[in-house]
Amino acid sequence: MDDVHEIFAIRYAHHDRRSPENFIGGDPHDILQPLAYFVWAIVGPHGTFVVDTGFDEMMAQKRGRTMTKPIGEGLASIGIDPAAVEHVIVSHLHYDHCGNYDLFPRARYHLQDCEMAYATGRCMCHTLIRFPFEAEDVVAMVRKVFGGRVVFHEGTEQMAPGITLHHIGGHSRGLQCVRVNTRRGRVVLASDATHLYAHINEGRVFPVTYSVAETLEGYTTIKKLADSADHIVPGHDPQVLTRYPAAAPQLENWVVRLDVPPNGV
Ligand SMILES: [Zn+2]
Ligand SMILES: [Zn+2]
Repeated sequence: MDDVHEIFAIRYAHHDRRSPENFIGGDPHDILQPLAYFVWAIVGPHGTFVVDTGFDEMMAQKRGRTMTKPIGEGLASIGIDPAAVEHVIVSHLHYDHCGNYDLFPRARYHLQDCEMAYATGRCMCHTLIRFPFEAEDVVAMVRKVFGGRVVFHEGTEQMAPGITLHHIGGHSRGLQCVRVNTRRGRVVLASDATHLYAHINEGRVFPVTYSVAETLEGYTTIKKLADSADHIVPGHDPQVLTRYPAAAPQLENWVVRLDVPPNGV
């Protein structure tokens, strides 16, 4: 079986906030609804694929987020040496998905064409649109282009048997999600195509968006790509840490396995 992979979600940071901040139009319940920050690792017969690279302690302070464990420690906890990783998939170029850019010296970075165009073009002239981007992150990616270390993708492409990239757009113009074949079926790492379970389940939209229409269409696409609703993994929902089992007892609330069914299913 050369197309069956394991998947790990590694939580690295946290942000307490109230629910009205998470939805266009607010939220009448006004409850505590924190965001968790993750990177993901796909491990299988074709090597290790890291999905997104998070941010570091300096960025956590700048953005008022709480770092829980550095990315490098999270990867090391499941036996992944960042220096040996050859493939990094970047879902999009927001500050919480593409920092730590010296952590993977051997890796090639996989990005949608239109995300780079978006992050370096006229839309960044607008304060509101560039807010979730960091100039240094984008510049670091441009340097990797010139270093021959970026692989551009357009639309849907296969990374390896059982691993495909899918352009979604919406939240960021070139946002892509990753579909991974596992022993429980096809799992979609949605990243910010749905921040929380509530977004896709209730057809609501996170306030940072390039296109509301594309975001909503994206939910339909993700549902088609995944084998069931339980095969969709949102990008920032702390519930991921309780729905899925820890990768090892000491990794509780830090690293969970996504290629096994969620608890209680
Ligand atoms: Zn984002
Ligand atoms: Zn994000």
